[in-house]
Amino acid sequence: MLEGLIDTHCHLDFPIFDSDRFEIMCACQDHDIQTIIIPSVCRKDWQKILSLSKQHPMLYPALGLHPCFTDQHHKNDLQQLNQMCANTPSLIAIGEIGLDYWHKNSDKKIQNEYFSEQLDIACHAHLPVLIHARKSHHDVLNALRARPSLNGGIIHAYSGSYEQAKEYLKLGFKLGFGGAFTYPKATRLRALISRLPIEAWVLETDAPDMTPIKHYGEKNSPQYLNEIAHEFTMLYDNTLDDKIIITQLNYNTCEVFPFL
Ligand SMILES: [Zn+2]
Repeated sequence: MLEGLIDTHCHLDFPIFDSDRFEIMCACQDHDIQTIIIPSVCRKDWQKILSLSKQHPMLYPALGLHPCFTDQHHKNDLQQLNQMCANTPSLIAIGEIGLDYWHKNSDKKIQNEYFSEQLDIACHAHLPVLIHARKSHHDVLNALRARPSLNGGIIHAYSGSYEQAKEYLKLGFKLGFGGAFTYPKATRLRALISRLPIEAWVLETDAPDMTPIKHYGEKNSPQYLNEIAHEFTMLYDNTLDDKIIITQLNYNTCEVFPFL
């Protein structure tokens, strides 16, 4: 199992990182951040993510079609995804996929079609899933329950209730803890941390979005993951050494991605 921190969700392929991606990866290594999982948004990103992860051993690719961009997806992207699963041994997960009912510009019915098909692809490929769920936990939970052969995964940037969290855990899923939790205003989310067992959580940045409070106004970066980990420790149990908690969070992450 890995010793350093693992960012389970970071869009390091986005063009906003083209000018400083290499410096960021060096800074990550200085901060003991050893592994970064890059989920994709649209099919046009796939090649870039795959070639970045080929060049840099700390990067791991996930391929999928994001629910907020249904206007950019095509039905045959799903066929392509299926083929990519068969031909890409480095693929670590299907993602990011899901349902976003907060984002009004993306048709619900079309989102559900892409989501179901990608869940089926993940079952078939025996890969975990990285899920984006916003105002949609009821439907996401139903879709997961309908597929007992799914290989687990992560509900990224978790925003649901305590009860919904328990349901995800029952299905073998983990919940992503990121920058949104670092804001004192996020009282409901912050209260969830220690109410759930530590086995529930994994770390993420969702960079360049969800900048933690200390860096408010800047673009988010995976190099801030150690600050997010520290914030998690403070919320979970501030009497424990960060290292003990981080080892457990890494263990949780490796349960989702056993070959990390
Ligand atoms: Zn994302």
